[in-house]
Amino acid sequence: MSQLHYVPSRILRINVGFLLAESIGQSRDIEIDVDVPVSVAEDLMLDGLHGTLHLSRNSRGILVEGALRTHYADECARCLEEASVPLELDVQELYIHPAEPDAPWVVADDGNLDLAPLVREEMILGTPHTILCRPDCAGLCPDCGENLNDGPCQCAAPIDPRMAALLNWQPLAEVARDLPETSPTDPAATGSKPRSRTRR
Ligand SMILES: [Zn+2]
Ligand SMILES: [Zn+2]
Repeated sequence: MSQLHYVPSRILRINVGFLLAESIGQSRDIEIDVDVPVSVAEDLMLDGLHGTLHLSRNSRGILVEGALRTHYADECARCLEEASVPLELDVQELYIHPAEPDAPWVVADDGNLDLAPLVREEMILGTPHTILCRPDCAGLCPDCGENLNDGPCQCAAPIDPRMAALLNWQPLAEVARDLPETSPTDPAATGSKPRSRTRR
């Protein structure tokens, strides 16, 4: 089952020739009911698309209004795992007919209007700023990088009571400060081997 199952964006091309043939003021509702992933653009795959669009004929073309619901996959900002982001797209756009060269949305000569680029644009506008796989995502441990949604990492492990006494030890830096002053460049003064401090 490694094969991708999705429908191409042309499923979002709607033939409105029947509505163009009708008089101004006529309208029709169409149901969008795509249950499989739909490739809206080369860089955008939506996980299904549902909703009702109201198409109405006016003097300039076809007005498309309605709301569409979808999901798409993105990276969670906290844990970097894949997140399914729900989106509600409010659509309200006039598809010009006959097509004008500078109009962004037009009904093509074959009577089709293409919802895919409109869905893509609405999607970009509607994308939440912070994407989370779930509202209470625990994210990654800043120290070890483990996904804390899978449980606490080793950094958070409780301290063994036998080791707890170590926490009360005077930090070595403070110990060193209390020692009599010696020249760090002169190995003879401290009695240490000069290269031992760079060895691992
Ligand atoms: Zn997450
Ligand atoms: Zn950690």
